[in-house]
Amino acid sequence: MTDPYWLQRATSLAMDALLARLDLERGARPYFWVDYESQPPQAQHAYWDICDIAGRFVDGLVLARLITGRQDATEAEAQLRRFLWAQQDESDGLFYNPDDEQPATNAEMSKYIPAAGVMTSRRHLDLFCQRSPLLAMTTLMQLGDESMRPRLQKMVRGLWAIAEHRGDEINFSTYRWAPALRPEWAAPVNVPEKWVGYRHALLTGLARYAQLSQDPVAIDLALGIARYYMKHGDVPPDGRFRANTHSGGVLPVSVGVARLGLAFGQRELVEWAHRVYLWTRENTPDFGFLRDGLGLEGFWSGTCETCGIADFIHLAVLLTEAGVGEYWDDIERVARNQLLENQYRDEEAMHRLFPGLDERVLAMLKGGFECAARPNDLLTWKGAEGCCIGGGLRALYLTWRSALSETADETRVHTGVSRRTTHTQVTAHEPRQGRIEVEVLTPRQVAMRLPAYARLEDSSAWVDGKPVSPQWEKGYALFPALKPGQKIALCYPLPQRRQTYTIADHEYTADWLGNVLIEISPSGTHHPIYRRRPQLEAPLVDAGATWREATAAPILW
Ligand SMILES: [Zn+2]
Repeated sequence: MTDPYWLQRATSLAMDALLARLDLERGARPYFWVDYESQPPQAQHAYWDICDIAGRFVDGLVLARLITGRQDATEAEAQLRRFLWAQQDESDGLFYNPDDEQPATNAEMSKYIPAAGVMTSRRHLDLFCQRSPLLAMTTLMQLGDESMRPRLQKMVRGLWAIAEHRGDEINFSTYRWAPALRPEWAAPVNVPEKWVGYRHALLTGLARYAQLSQDPVAIDLALGIARYYMKHGDVPPDGRFRANTHSGGVLPVSVGVARLGLAFGQRELVEWAHRVYLWTRENTPDFGFLRDGLGLEGFWSGTCETCGIADFIHLAVLLTEAGVGEYWDDIERVARNQLLENQYRDEEAMHRLFPGLDERVLAMLKGGFECAARPNDLLTWKGAEGCCIGGGLRALYLTWRSALSETADETRVHTGVSRRTTHTQVTAHEPRQGRIEVEVLTPRQVAMRLPAYARLEDSSAWVDGKPVSPQWEKGYALFPALKPGQKIALCYPLPQRRQTYTIADHEYTADWLGNVLIEISPSGTHHPIYRRRPQLEAPLVDAGATWREATAAPILW
């Protein structure tokens, strides 16, 4: 966290966890579930492995390679992709959960247990599980893999064929689908069958594909789903929803709605998604503890799932880049705090918690992200879901790629994230120092944003070690006419503050330094988090040279 390359390091760790979860003896089928109620913890194959996790992992690996430059494990990756493509039906392009699915050996394998009495063991389509293959294919298509286009075209037409069309609204009336609908699918009593957002969450990827391809069927399908969800979904017109943020699909759908509104010039869609963002933000502690059950009662109203953080950051990035609002500080604060702290890193804690922990299972946990975090603790539930490795990598990617934007003659640095491009090398030193440095590699102007908590009059600007008085433009310091080799810096004091929070009826006290939460009390007891004070005092190991991140313009999510 105190390393300027915290984001690259976290990504590399997550990539290790992802690779460890591939079962190479079963064609790289991922393990969704690590059950840590059984002692020692066991990895288990589960319903979600097949389409959802395989799709997230194909996507996540590509994004992780862009951030870290890592080129290892290409054979495992190729196997994983073959595994995912094998689930796509050749005739309708949809991704099916196959016939031979075993009934869950552990009923608690996930918070979305195939609901009691709902048959999931026969080959069928799970609409939530269409989401991550869409993300994966759209990511690959953006990298120039043209073999994705026919796959996507077929899938979109497959979705179109099974959807309900009423006027200009389109929806999926059941969460599961097969040529012969089972009666319990049509009369859902449990989650996730009941959630409207869950079966339309695929809008995240569909909207991006529609925007990229301009495929007319994809555009009509995506806009039709957006219209339906805005009217009949989980969000009232004022945006003040009570629902499960990620797992209920609200935020994944909202990301799609925002993108469609921006891509196709539909203002009411953008405003709707903005209301969802503002309400979520208002109900989320500023360090990014996004509750899964927002405004609900019960267990999930007091826990944070990393996948939800990815959606929240995604929505913030889209709205900010479009100029609808300015949420750069939200993005950086959430990423540096709850996102990063949701990552399992403390091996000692894991060994203490799970005596006899197998090295292979440890490798699946370490670097993975929590699906049910407490504000001060991880690993307090029943098991570790694999989805959050994909979610964590997406959140890291969105933070990394949005940190700066560049044109032929200007770089704008929006957040304090170290990153190298063909034009600049940015090094951010928070929380050790309030200092962002830019080394210029091609002639250009650089604009650097001052974090919202810092006062302009307390800041200082430097060019090649000499103080300068830059011109300011909407919170950005301008450094014009720079030549290759010049180094500039923006410095600011890091204020300390103490704040109390009440989360799910528990009180917490947090100590902040700038945008970084340093310590939270009371401390957790399983895998305590926010214990950053000792790191601040430890000597800095600058390992920036080990990252060979992609320097070309990144793919746009
Ligand atoms: Zn998750």
